[in-house]
Amino acid sequence: MVEARHATERNKQCDVKGCGSEAERSVSGEAAVDAGLKVDEGKKRVHLCKEHYREYKRSSRKDRQLQNLGR
Ligand SMILES: [Zn+2]
Repeated sequence: MVEARHATERNKQCDVKGCGSEAERSVSGEAAVDAGLKVDEGKKRVHLCKEHYREYKRSSRKDRQLQNLGR
């Protein structure tokens, strides 16, 4: 029935504690902690869902410059 089984394996969960939504992006763990997100410290990469990625973007000053370039 479901042939796209492998695709689901790529869908990771958001690493923010208590979230568990489907992750859309991954960022460096350090940056995520910096942005005030509740992720395990010491991780190299953390996965973020759409919502938390937005939050991350908002609170990360470094990324704001990049965002301006992108738009
Ligand atoms: Zn999340």
